[in-house]
Amino acid sequence: MSQIPSPAVPASATASALADATQASGMVIVGGGLAAATAAQTLRTEGWDGAITIVAQEPEVPYQRPPLSKGFLAGKEGEDALLPLPVDWYAENNVTLMKGTQATALNPQSHTITLDNGTTLPYTKLLLATGADPRRIPFPGVDLEGVYTFRTKADSVALKELLTGGGKNVVLIGSGWIGMEIAATARELGNNVALMGLEEVPLSVAIGTALGTVFTDRHKEAGVRFELPASAAEIQGTDGHVSSVLTTTGVTLPADVVIVAVGVVPNIALAQGAGLTINNGIEVDSALRTSAADVFAAGDVANAQHPVTGSHARSEHWANAIASGKVAAKSMLGKDAALDDIPYFYTDQFDLGMEYSGFGALAKDAELVIRGELASREFIAFWVLDGRVVASMNVNIWDVQDAIKDLISSQRIVDTAALADPQTPLETI
Ligand SMILES: Cc1cc2nc3c(=O)[nH]c(=O)nc-3n(C[C@H](O)[C@H](O)[C@H](O)COP(=O)(O)OP(=O)(O)OC[C@H]3O[C@@H](n4cnc5c(N)ncnc54)[C@H](O)[C@@H]3O)c2cc1C
Repeated sequence: MSQIPSPAVPASATASALADATQASGMVIVGGGLAAATAAQTLRTEGWDGAITIVAQEPEVPYQRPPLSKGFLAGKEGEDALLPLPVDWYAENNVTLMKGTQATALNPQSHTITLDNGTTLPYTKLLLATGADPRRIPFPGVDLEGVYTFRTKADSVALKELLTGGGKNVVLIGSGWIGMEIAATARELGNNVALMGLEEVPLSVAIGTALGTVFTDRHKEAGVRFELPASAAEIQGTDGHVSSVLTTTGVTLPADVVIVAVGVVPNIALAQGAGLTINNGIEVDSALRTSAADVFAAGDVANAQHPVTGSHARSEHWANAIASGKVAAKSMLGKDAALDDIPYFYTDQFDLGMEYSGFGALAKDAELVIRGELASREFIAFWVLDGRVVASMNVNIWDVQDAIKDLISSQRIVDTAALADPQTPLETI
């Protein structure tokens, strides 16, 4: 995974008339994740030399989350892998980073936000990059010690301590990407891992049954136990600590650690309180403008209109946090910008590495074409709709993303036999 490119030196001259007029309040970003960091960096590289303030509720320098369930949790990667920008970047680029500070209210009329330290912060332009929080389901017993959700660095640090050394009984509730990744890492660390989820085949909602089976089989081979389809009827405990999970199918799974990974909900509270349009997150146009003047949204919290599909989609992925952070920053500076990237995400589970590009919503009704053999665990899957590739996923085959994105963005009619033939270069199809 690549880092955000190094920051260029901010342009010394003001980029636009905006700068002079707004030096006093400047650009304010709420959030402390990848979208926030990328937006701050882009404001500087795009020539903004006025004030930038990041209001970040977590006590951390902005960090990115993918390693939390993979290399960082496994102990293979350190803190550096979490940082999209060096720790010193903020001070060196005159960006005020208010760590451990929550924005509690937004007033679009007065162009101010209120902070939990009681102060009011004016803004010229505001970016809401508040991300998402784990969905919390009130399973009986969810408050027992040893039951976790998983989103933050603190979650990963706590679980690393418990799982390293192995031998624990770990139960995952939730069979999506995060649940499957944590299951793989926990198993690799030598723990007994059981996973339950509502789908017959994990990940099938996202990538279909045949491809979900590839990942599920790899987990089974490694000794992960699946209870499917099932949810938790009760998390049971002894002396206040979790001891087992009773599934809705009547199975009792021993548990020292339970991780609830049942999706996320976007952090819309600020926007909702201010009367902004909410629709599965904060609704924004393709330039990431909200319904309030001078207020923008990016990252997991933003439900953006995509110029290709014309419809809104909220992406909960790493690449979108970067792409939308850049677009939001340009938009805040009054420059033409649109979030028109082809959606992209990736996962690593055991020795399966995967990249996915394309429009999941269009893939639902598409024909699945496989280049290579699923059983070999080295293949490319294409979703073809009306003769055009709308999405694709490469598993353990690398350096094909440029060709795949070209196939998708060109919207050219493809020969599916050529698509399925590993000998035919993708560029020629
Ligand atoms: C464990 C894990 C593994 C992942 N792995 C992958 C992967 O392999 N591939 C992939 O494509 N994607 C992955 N993702 C998804 C990816 O990390 C997210 O899409 C990305 O973090 C979104 O960035 P963001 O900046 O929008 O939000 P976040 O990273 O959620 O950051 C938002 C920040 O805003 C703060 N905040 C919220 N409200 C306020 C407030 N009122 N005031 C101040 N601060 C506030 C939050 O505390 C948080 O720190 C993973 C996510 C997790 C949790």
